[in-house]
Order: sequence, then structure tokens, then C-alpha cells
Amino acid sequence: MTTNALLDAITAPSGSGRPVADAATDEVFGHAPEHTTADLDAALAAARRAQPAWAALGHEERARILNAAADEVEAHAEELADIIAREQGKPLNGAGARFEAGGCAVWIRTAADTPLEDEVLFEAEGTRSVLRYEPLGVVAAINPWNWPALIAIWQIAPSLRMGNTVVAKPSEYTPLSVLAVIELMNRHLPEGVLTGVAGGRDVGAAISAHPEVDKVMFTGSTATGRRIVESSADNLARLTLELGGNDPGIVLPGADPAAIAEGLFWGAFINTGQTCAALKRLYVHDSIYDDVVTALAGIAESMPLGAGTSEESALGPLTTDQQFGIVSRLVDDARQRGARIVTGGEPATELGPRFYRATIVADIDDDAPLVAEEQFGPVLPVLRYSDVDDAIARANSSEQGLGASLWGNPDEAFALAGRIESGTVWINQHGTLNPVVPFGGTKASGYGLEFGSHGLKAVGAPKVITV
Ligand code: NAD
Repeated sequence: MTTNALLDAITAPSGSGRPVADAATDEVFGHAPEHTTADLDAALAAARRAQPAWAALGHEERARILNAAADEVEAHAEELADIIAREQGKPLNGAGARFEAGGCAVWIRTAADTPLEDEVLFEAEGTRSVLRYEPLGVVAAINPWNWPALIAIWQIAPSLRMGNTVVAKPSEYTPLSVLAVIELMNRHLPEGVLTGVAGGRDVGAAISAHPEVDKVMFTGSTATGRRIVESSADNLARLTLELGGNDPGIVLPGADPAAIAEGLFWGAFINTGQTCAALKRLYVHDSIYDDVVTALAGIAESMPLGAGTSEESALGPLTTDQQFGIVSRLVDDARQRGARIVTGGEPATELGPRFYRATIVADIDDDAPLVAEEQFGPVLPVLRYSDVDDAIARANSSEQGLGASLWGNPDEAFALAGRIESGTVWINQHGTLNPVVPFGGTKASGYGLEFGSHGLKAVGAPKVITV
């Protein structure tokens, strides 16, 4: 027994399952059940059996149940946040673990309550054609480790609202955060409607290729996304792919460095940089380059770094050894190429095994791997430009196209937004999400939209009825 009743409800008995450690300290705080592909088969069979009755309840009754589930998540938000802060490592405060737990309730409610009426496509000469979205069947929700509970909810809540049943597969690094939010929802959902299957990458591969799956909602790396597209050739599952990002930001001439520095910093360092749509490379006009770099470094140096569970922390550890290795390698490489490490540039090993200091890198070239690859950590490379057309071309040179941002005069920025190759362009902000505003990528960042009515349609089967 621990002091967290939600953790006690989901953790496998000690001695069974896989030990899960606090990302900051490596101290084991729970055990995740290790489900197998046989468990997966059983979960999908149960989801298939439960689906017709769940669909038959209708939108209103499903929305009522989902709202009750959202209330449950809200009532246990503190326990959920504690699990997220330990397992994934994000700090409790700011846009951290409490924000993630609260966001789960908000996104469930919005998916439940967003209207989706029949669409009249044609009405004349005695003929009427109507478009309606019906359930697809069974949805597989495969999620990553960086925002484990919230991203799982982004996949689960709209799928359930539309009358599908769901089998969710958490990342092997963050099973408890996802099983915890599923446990809370299942206090209100009928049997078989939502099941979490915690297993390794073999379970992930089996779920996306499974004949019982009608739709895969996947959030994760571009490499795994490609595997899932291949698998879908067999089961013809529909796909929503939210893949990696290497989001550029462009600071236009005339922007006020002091006014935008904090927004730039959190656009890049939210969740210690481990966010798909975080700012990952920043192009700054020559006229204000030095001021922006200095302001960013000042903020980076003032941010308390510490364990997720500490009330004081603003930035936390990297979640995995692998990610810590990627960040260290990219910064070391940048240094060797002659880039300027303005602040940070080294691990903070005195705090724990996977802490890395908030790092600002200046005077770096576009072809450095720190710029060309997704760092997914607390490091921002800042690049210099003198011509806006050139900055846009360099921003668009990535194969990724998730988000992007423009900073400066809003009208000037708005006029340029259409030229940026990304699913979202933010102006004077980066990475802000809204449960009714659709979000999704272009190019190698994937396809399909989440959130709002567009997100509901993505987990529905369009049917046209002509009278
Ligand atoms: P990952 O691709 O390694 O793993 C994601 C999930 O896929 C895990 O649950 C994993 O077990 C599972 N999986 C592994 N092999 C599989 C297979 N063959 N078939 C099906 N599933 C399989 O990604 P990650 O390291 O957990 O997450 C980090 C990446 O996710 C980053 O690139 C980040 O940009 C991206 N991401 C994107 C978004 C977005 O909305 N676009 C959001 C968060 C993270």
C-alpha cells in the first residue's frame, strides 16, 4: 500500500509485473502489469462484443457517461498527477503533471459535448442527401511516453463518444499513467468498452496489424508510424498518425525580444522539451539576434530544475535513458562543430541520472544534427537570418511539418502564415492547444486531425443517406 489509492488500484502486486521507477531518482514506486498478445486478443474480442450495445446507447447517453468519467478524473486529479510526475518526470506545477491530469477531464468533456449534427449535402427537386458519422467499430489507441495520460485521452475520448470501443496500448515507459486514467474512466463505462493493454513493442506491432482493429489512432515517432502504415495494408484499418515534429519558429524584424522571450522559452521547453509540437529550432532576424539569445539564456538559467514531485521544479529530468543519450549526443556534436553554447550544455548529474541543464545554442548551422533532427529535450538552437524569404525556406526545409510559429507584428505574421509548411501556424505563441480547435500534421508529421468536430469525424464512418 502507498499513500496513493489510485496507484494501489492499478499497480500489479509487488513481485509480479514490471517495476516502474521515478524518472528523477530511479526509485521503484509501482509495478506495471505485463500484458501479452494473448491478453490483447482477449481485450479486442471483449471490445468487439461490447461495441454494438455501446453504440446503441446513442450520443446523449454516451455523453452523460463520459461526463461522469470526467468528474471522476477531476476528483482524483491529484493522485493521477502524482503518478505522471513520478513515471514521466514532468513537474507538478506550470504546464506539468497537474495540468496534464486536469486536461484529461477537459478533453473528455469536450469530446462528449461537441455537437455533430447530420450535414445536409444537397436539397432540391424532391431529393435530399444527408451525411452522418457512424461508429467504426473497435479503435486501437497507441500512445507515446511524453504526455502519456493526456494523449491517450485525446485518442480514447472522441472514439468512445462516437460509439466505438477502445483498446489502448500505453508506451512501455509510461504504462501506469495511462492505466490510471483508464481505471478512473472504467468506474463509469460498461465492461469491455475500454481496456488498457500494457506491453512492449511486440504488443504495439500486434495491435496495429490485428484483424479486429477498424481504426488505429497512433501518436509516436515517424519511424513507428511508417510500420503502422505497412501493417494497415492487411487489416485496412483507418489511421490517424500524429508523428514527430521539428517545429521552426521565426522571429520577424521589429519583434520586441523582452516581450516574446518568455513565450519563446516555454514554447520550446514545455515538458522539458519532450513535446511533439514544441519549438525545436528558432530563426531570429539579425537585427535582434543577440538580444533574443541573451533573454532566452537568462530565463533558462532562472528555471529551477528538479524532480517531478517537487513543488519548486519548473523543469524535470528526461524520461528515458535513450532520450538523455540523444540530447547529450546532439549538444556535444554542436559544440564540436563550433556552435556557441550560451548556457547549459551539460548534464546536471548532481540531481539524478537523467537531468540535463536547459541549454541555448547560438551560431549554429542548419545542417547540424541538433537543427536537422528532433532533439525532444531541453535544448534550443537559435539560428541567424537576414532575409525573411530565406528564413521561411530554411524553416520549410525539414521533412516534418507539425507546427510552426511566427513572432512579431501580428498582421505581418498572418500574411506570411500561408507560406509555412505545417499543420498549425501559431503567431506570438507556440504549441498552445484547444480542445475544439483541430490539431494535426503535414508531411512526415503524419495525417488526420484530432480535437473538435473534425476529431469526432476522424473516428466515425461517414454514411450518406439520400431520400
Ligand atoms: P515510439 O514511436 O517509439 O512509440 C510510440 C508507441 O508505439 C509506443 O506505445 C510503442 O510501444 C508503440 N510501438 C512500437 N512499435 C510499434 C509497432 N511496430 N506498431 C505499433 N506500435 C508500436 O514513440 P515515443 O518515443 O514513445 O514518442 C516520441 C515521439 O512521438 C516523438 O517523435 C514525438 O514527436 C512523437 N509525438 C508526436 C505527437 C503528435 O501529436 N504529433 C505527440 C507526442 C509525441
